[in-house]
Parts: sequence; C-alpha cells; structure tokens
Amino acid sequence: MKYIKYIVFIVAVLWGYGTGMAQPQIYKTALPDFNEQNAYQYIERQVAFGPRVPNSAAQEACAHYLEQLLQSFTDTVFRQETIIKAKDRKKLRCINLVGSFNPRAQRRLLLLAHWDSRPWADRNKKKEPVPAANDGASGVGVLLELAALLQQHRVDSTLGIDILFTDVEDYGKVKWGAESYGLGAQYWAHQPHVKGYQAFGGILLDMVGGKNARFALEAYSQKYAPQLQAVVWEAAATAGYSAYFVPEKEGFITDDHVFINGIARIPCIDIIDLPENSATGFVDYWHTTADDMSKIDPATLKAVGQTLVQYIYSL
Ligand SMILES: [Zn+2]
Repeated sequence: MKYIKYIVFIVAVLWGYGTGMAQPQIYKTALPDFNEQNAYQYIERQVAFGPRVPNSAAQEACAHYLEQLLQSFTDTVFRQETIIKAKDRKKLRCINLVGSFNPRAQRRLLLLAHWDSRPWADRNKKKEPVPAANDGASGVGVLLELAALLQQHRVDSTLGIDILFTDVEDYGKVKWGAESYGLGAQYWAHQPHVKGYQAFGGILLDMVGGKNARFALEAYSQKYAPQLQAVVWEAAATAGYSAYFVPEKEGFITDDHVFINGIARIPCIDIIDLPENSATGFVDYWHTTADDMSKIDPATLKAVGQTLVQYIYSL
C-alpha cells in the first residue's frame, strides 16, 4: 500500500508537469505597492498652508496636520517643541515630530525629512518665502505615505522604524556657516525624543519630487555611511529605478544628515536631487518662489517610495 501511495504521488506530479498545472514555481514575495498619488496629495496639503516658515501661523497649522497624520499611522508620536536662537539672533519656534513603529525594538531605522520652508527666496525674490513643495514638503509627503503603508503591512516586531520630521532646516545662509542650517536636526541630535536613542542607519529625503530627478551619491553620505548608501542604491536598481538612482559620485551637501552623522553618530545618507550641469548644484527653481506644486512629479515620488519599500522589506 505504501508504494502505491508513492506511485500515485509521482504520477500526479508528472501529470501536473504535463498539463502545466502543478509546476513548482518560485514565488517572489510581492512587495507592497507605494501609492505616489497619495504622496502627492500629502505634499499638496502642506503647500496649501502657505510657506511653513518659523513663527508663522502656517507653521502651527501644518505641525498640527502632520502630527495628526502620524498619530493615525504610527504606534507612538513624539512632539518636540523648543525655541532656537538663529544666527540673526531671532528666536525661532521649532517643532520636530517623530512617529515610531515598534517603539520597543532595539534594532531601529531612522527616516527623516525637513518640513519647514525657507523664509527667503534668495534666488529670485529675496523678500518672499519659498513655497517649498520640493525643498521641504516632498520628503515629508513620501514618508507620510510610507507610514500609511507600514501600518497596512507591518514589519517584523524586532525592527523599529522612526519617521522624523525636522523643523528649521532652511534658515541658514552660506555667510553664516554650515551650522546655520539644520537647526531642528541639530536640536534633535543633541536631545533625541528618546534618551540614548540609537539607530543602525538613517535615510534623509530632500528634494525628492522633481521631474527626472537625479539621485547621485552625495559625498557626506559616502563618507559616513557608504554601506547603507550602496544597499539603498542597489534596492533602487532591484525595484527598477536606476534611471533615478544613478551610481555617480557628487559633492558634499550641507543638509540634516551632516548633524545626524556628526552629533547623533547615526550613519545617515541623503537622497537628494543633484542635477548634472547645474550652476547651483540643485534644480533651477531651488530657493525661488517657483518651487511650487507644478514642480512635483508623481513618477519621482514613486521611484523614491518604492525604493524605500524595497529596502525596508529586505531588512
Ligand atoms: Zn533649501
């Protein structure tokens, strides 16, 4: 009887091969699909508040909006509010927000983007603020949609993920020095939302919504977190976005990740649009009043969001 069972089994398998019904297949686990239209809407909503410059009503209203969304998507939300003295001696209200998944896990990944708007459009109308659709809202929009996705598709409970929205990144000027930038990130790096906070890696998103963006290998990221940078660019290639994530070296950019690396000692990379043959190093509407919704391309948001999905679900 034993043998008959085996024979029946073998015949069934062979029959399956013949008909194509029971062919063994290697199923690739389907990754969640990042929704770029939702990300676009999160950017649109932020921009609709008006420029989110420190001490403005738009800052207060947008902080409330972001905090509510983080509350609805993540496990725990931290609101870190303080007054920062800027290089022009002005006292600036600074609101950093953190949404955490699996807050008790030891192994943690930090994802961050700045949400403030530059108060001066130095590159065209100095007295007006920047709408900051790309330089501000875009990174936050991608991370909000990622938070929604992470809520639907929980990662392993041993992996903690923190989404940090930093304030007062863009109140800097070259003549004031590199430390005039990233004031919110500097504050957080000195006083993280959880005492003794550590993460194995950090990923900063800045200007991640521009059409045909070129995410080249930024030099501080390369210096402080070369392995993480390589793995994320590899994830982009696997996800099919190597047209955006080009493995070409670029220069040093002062951005929030400099302080996450230098002060918090978390190896952190910057995903930032660095176009080729640009006079400033950035897109031509950078730090102008033209950094509005017309510059945001959902296809780029998809490339960045899906790359993060590819990376996170491989951890
Ligand atoms: Zn900026």
